[in-house]
Amino acid sequence: MKFHLVTIFPDFFDGPFRHGVVARAAQAGALAIQTYDLRTWTHDIHKTVDDRPFGGGEGMLMKCAPIFDAVETIFPAKTAQQRVILTSAQGRKFTQQVARDLTQYDELLILCGRYEGVDERVAEHLADDELSIGDYVLSGGELAAAIIVDSVARLLPGVLGNSDSALNESFEDGLLDCPQWTRPADFRGWKVPETLLGGNHAEIRKWRLQAAREKTARLRPDLLA
Ligand code: SAH
Repeated sequence: MKFHLVTIFPDFFDGPFRHGVVARAAQAGALAIQTYDLRTWTHDIHKTVDDRPFGGGEGMLMKCAPIFDAVETIFPAKTAQQRVILTSAQGRKFTQQVARDLTQYDELLILCGRYEGVDERVAEHLADDELSIGDYVLSGGELAAAIIVDSVARLLPGVLGNSDSALNESFEDGLLDCPQWTRPADFRGWKVPETLLGGNHAEIRKWRLQAAREKTARLRPDLLA
């Protein structure tokens, strides 16, 4: 899969994708990430990407023209396999299911907002999807974009070592992942549950499912509802 990130801070992404699973997947060619400086698509000497909102109010808004130009340059003949996503606090909620749905596309172009947000014509006439990573307000869409790339990337075929490992994780079956332990079996008197120390795999499976249900009921009852 190819990810295109449009931002006024292209350097922002030097860090997030340099480590771990995503970096290895990029190296192995399972995915590619390209960042673009939105100011490339401005035409004035100051490379202006923002302007005052009509109707007044605090702060500045991102202008629509450079964003339209960017998308139309990156996807000159946009196909159904190419998806344009606007990061936005007003978007529909990004979840594991949405991440899974996004794996079916060949290319995702993610638009990172800044300032007080983006001229609404981008959401209405350019983006296929407006996504929020949660009910809080960030100062920019870059962190949201990094989160979307990371969570989609690890679902792509060949990215995680064991193809089953993504299936047993939190949110995949309406449950949180089960609690897990590693050595030592006794740390400061806190012991690992007995069942997990034995080799009875059927018992362990049963124990884990029950533990996942209990933890979900305790911390995220909304998932069970
Ligand atoms: N005035 C807007 C917030 C703008 S924050 C509002 O109240 O809805 C500036 C940019 O940060 C947004 O354009 C968006 O790209 C990004 N952003 C902020 N919160 C976000 C969230 N929860 N999810 C995804 N992107 C977010």
